[in-house]
Amino acid sequence: MSAIKSILLCRCPKCHEGQLFIDQNPYHLSKLSEMEKICPVCGFDVENETGFHFLSMYMSYIVSMGFSFAFLIPLTIILGLDWIPKLLIMNAIILIILWPFIFRWSRMISLWATVKWKFE
Ligand SMILES: [Zn+2]
Repeated sequence: MSAIKSILLCRCPKCHEGQLFIDQNPYHLSKLSEMEKICPVCGFDVENETGFHFLSMYMSYIVSMGFSFAFLIPLTIILGLDWIPKLLIMNAIILIILWPFIFRWSRMISLWATVKWKFE
């Protein structure tokens, strides 16, 4: 499984099999951030030091900006939306709908980036 597919499916960065979020549905908002402490498949320790979630917040900003550009440019071209407030409203709606996924993907990207050194 590729790294991108593992990140999108919230899988372990080591074995690419273990699910790291306890509840698989990101729209169960009360359990959105609950993660396994170790990978249920390979036992890889995914517990990070203090500050890990702070990095995820910055990653969330980057992922949100990526989604915004990925949606706004095609919407502008396809729909011919030339009114800035209309574009911003559509972007806000898309980001609100995708927010739980962006939250989890940001955590996964941060996890992949910070635990890579543990593999060796
Ligand atoms: Zn694993």
